[in-house]
Amino acid sequence: MRLLVVEDDPDLNRQLVTALSEADYAVDSAFDGEEGHFLGDTEPYDAVILDLGLPQMDGISVLEKWRRDERKMPVLILTARDRWSDKVAGMDAGADDYVAKPFHMEEILARVRALLRRSAGHAKNEIEVGPLRLDARTSRVTVDGAPIKLTSHEYRLLAYLMHHQGRVVSRTELVEHLYDQDFDRDSNTIEVFVGRLRKKLPSELIETVRGLGYRLGSASDEA
Ligand code: CA
Repeated sequence: MRLLVVEDDPDLNRQLVTALSEADYAVDSAFDGEEGHFLGDTEPYDAVILDLGLPQMDGISVLEKWRRDERKMPVLILTARDRWSDKVAGMDAGADDYVAKPFHMEEILARVRALLRRSAGHAKNEIEVGPLRLDARTSRVTVDGAPIKLTSHEYRLLAYLMHHQGRVVSRTELVEHLYDQDFDRDSNTIEVFVGRLRKKLPSELIETVRGLGYRLGSASDEA
């Protein structure tokens, strides 16, 4: 899953990027409204964390512009604690959730998990496909109850396929959603990671759909 953080306070921006990266998300960041708007307009993020008080273009305008242009990614806004009117304006502009500053990082992480699972149509943090079980809270994966050790990249790939279980996901889509913009993107690396995952999982779980991409679990496995 790939996220965008738009926050002009350099320390807070860095803290958010660090915490989200440690939670195995690919993260891009912007420090003003114009840059943030541009990235959200051109890159396919799974969710965005958007501060409202931003230089160049304020957060509400950024959000309104995205929504006018049919950009539908979930957006979590950061508001000032005592400004209830900002929360109302933000939600009306198309935000999916908000967190008031100052906040605990755990709250941001929990709300991001909730946005991601809702947008993928899952009710719970635990996703199951056959013998495979993934807990988005702990980044833990088990097969028939036995824990599987995955690298961060392997985990991201598997989490994306599991969130979108039963659907054919193309290599291009995987590259766009697993790596941040500074990563040297090469769709061949996806093949390498799929190969490594297959060695760690029951090999038939990830199906190659020739010419189209990969599928994890059949549509009927959908919980
Ligand atoms: Ca700000």
